[in-house]
This record gives sequence, structure tokens and C-alpha cells, in this order.
Amino acid sequence: MAADPSAPRHIRLTSHASGQGALPIRWGASTPAERGPIVGTTTKRSHRNVIGTHSGSYSVYRALAVAAGALNRDHKADLTNTAPTDQIGPYPQWTDPGKIVSLDPWGATVAEVFANELAAGYDIRPTIAVTKAHVILPEVIEAIQKGRLKPDNRILLEGGAACVTKAAIEPVWYLPGVAKRFGCSESDLRRVLFEETGGMYPELVTRSDLEVFLPPIGGQTIYIFGNARDLANPDVELTARVHDECNGSDVFGSDICTCRPYLTHAIEECIQGAQRGGVGLVAYSRKEGRALGEVTKFLVYNARKRQVGGDTADQYFARTECVAGVQDMRFQELMPDVLHWLGIRKIHRLVSMSNMKYDAITGSGIEVGERVDIPAELIPADAQVEMEAKKAAGYFTPDVVPDARTLKETKGRAL
Ligand SMILES: [Zn+2]
Repeated sequence: MAADPSAPRHIRLTSHASGQGALPIRWGASTPAERGPIVGTTTKRSHRNVIGTHSGSYSVYRALAVAAGALNRDHKADLTNTAPTDQIGPYPQWTDPGKIVSLDPWGATVAEVFANELAAGYDIRPTIAVTKAHVILPEVIEAIQKGRLKPDNRILLEGGAACVTKAAIEPVWYLPGVAKRFGCSESDLRRVLFEETGGMYPELVTRSDLEVFLPPIGGQTIYIFGNARDLANPDVELTARVHDECNGSDVFGSDICTCRPYLTHAIEECIQGAQRGGVGLVAYSRKEGRALGEVTKFLVYNARKRQVGGDTADQYFARTECVAGVQDMRFQELMPDVLHWLGIRKIHRLVSMSNMKYDAITGSGIEVGERVDIPAELIPADAQVEMEAKKAAGYFTPDVVPDARTLKETKGRAL
């Protein structure tokens, strides 16, 4: 039955405990039965045991679909044949409440581990999905043509398709753990989340008994080259990149940054590593424009290119800070969670120059061997500004760190 928008309906406030039948969540408990399922559905409100709802920002589209009469709000997902293609875990990190605070380690297997609760009528939805794919990239085909990559019909097919296992992961935040990562109190975190979303989730401040929040933000996608189980074996060589979304470069090829070249270089490294008997991983986080969003990012581009003296590396971070108030909002504190979900204990080759990512990964207890920088020939001319500014700010480089004069002289194209 579709919703009739003209029909008057009372609004059920979420700020008061309805309490009947909601299952408790004990974050980090040693078995899924003790941990309890995440119930973020709106179909039966008395069963909800979290703040927020599923699908991150897409929950707003779901609301539009209900408002438009296209979606029955009581629709329950039919999970037939949706099970993961690869078994991931369980790993010891799953039951260490400090190791994973921003995703549900049991999120891919709810149909299996919470079968009893599902049978009892709880609407438990997966927050992780695992599938298989072939990925075809022009850079990989070019690498084959130039002889850098060789198809082996296992990891890389003759036509240039790479065989991967991929997983989509929605954020599930355990608020006490998230607060701890950011060094603030849980009550401060709750209040600021409430205020900065315009009061979107009143339970943040009224329901301290609800400790889990499904935030309305993008999640992560991981691409695994080789056997997913090998990720947890520190004796198998792991090549990994943790990449933050940049639509302009990743998808459309804008030349002002190194995002796509670095991403495709990492995929090439992952394929080579997997072909050597290792395993490769790209973890892609939806944190567009340093998590400032694309509008802010494009404003910064204009500010950089219109400033007196032009777009120089010495002003790179200053221009971002002028517009956004900060240089970067990605805060890598939560990023290693996905690595712990995969059971990773050692990354042999980390394809990243970011000191923030490196510090977050090693700080979470994962060993990092070699750090792999982007080959100079892959850096677009206009992206030299970003590259030199980042090296000066502490990004990893085997080259000489640029001095003040080099930064002033490294200049990008005008508008
Ligand atoms: Zn970029």
C-alpha cells in the first residue's frame, strides 16, 4: 500500500523509548548472539535499537520513494541468494571493541548469524554486501600493451579485465568508541552531531541508552585482487591502497590532482602483487574533496587559481583553509576499521604517500612494510602544486622535500 501524502498522520517521535522487544547491542561481544543484531529499520519501530537508519545518505531517497508512493514503507527485503560470495572472518579483531567502532563486522552475514531473530520477525538488514566482478580500466589495458602487466587468466584476463571480489560497507558507529578515537566525550560528540545536522536525530541527545548510530554519510567499497582470506595471513604479501573519493579525477579525469593516476597505479601494483602469489586491496572511502564536499572543493580551485601570484604550492593548504576553515576533514581515525574487519595484521606494500593514513594504520596496530609513492611520470602537470605542497607538509616521499622557494615556484595553470 503506497502512502497517501494527503492523509493526516501523526508523527511517531523517536525521542522516547518505545522499548517493546528491542534487542540489546553489546558492542564487541564474543559471539553475534551476545552482540545482538543492528536493527535500523523503520518497519517496526519498537524493534529499533539504533539511532538513524540504513543506507546512509540514500535513506533520504528512500523517504522520497515512500513520499512519491513508489515504495511501500513496510517492504521487507527478500534476502534470497544475496549471501556473500566469499567468506570474510570472523577474525579476532571483530570481538575487540576498540579495534572496530565504525562498521558492523557481522553486517554481511546477518541472514546466517541472526537467523533466529529474523525468524522471530525482526527486520535485520545487511550493512555489508560481498560480490564478484570483472573490472576493466584503460590504464590497465595500456599497462598490458606496454608490457608492464601480463594477463595470467587468473587475476588478469586476456582482454584486460581484472577479476576481483568487492564489498560495499555502510557505516555503523558505536558512539562511545568513535568518541574515544577522536579524544572527546561521548556526550560532546552526541551534542555536536545533533547540532551540526540541524537537529536531524533527536535521539543523539535524548536516548543515551542507544549507543549505535547509522550516520547519513557515504561508506566504503573494497576491491580485493586474489583470495580474500589471504588478507588475514601476514605471511602472504599484501599490497594495499586506502583511497578517498575524488569524483573529478577518479571518474572524469580532471588533471588538478593525482587521485585517478594514483588509484590506477595502485590497481596495477595490486594485480602484480596478486600475480606474485600475494593479495591486493583497494579500500575506497566516500569522502569527497577531503570530506569537504565537491562545492567547497570547486570554490577552493577558483580561490587558488585567482589569487595574486597564481596557483602556487606554498598557498595550497592556505586556500583550502580560507574557504573551509580546515585543511582537511577526512580524519583517518576510523579508516583502519575496514582493515581490521578483513583481519589484516600486516601491509607489506602500502601504496600511499599520506602520513595521516600511515599514522592511523600503524597506530591501530597494523604493521606497514614498504611505502610506495606515485611514479613521477603519472603526475599531471597541473597536479604538481598539490604534490609539492603535500610533500612539504609531511607526506612520504623518497625524494627531496621541497623548500620554501620550490613551493613558491611550483605553479599551476590559470583558469
Ligand atoms: Zn583528486
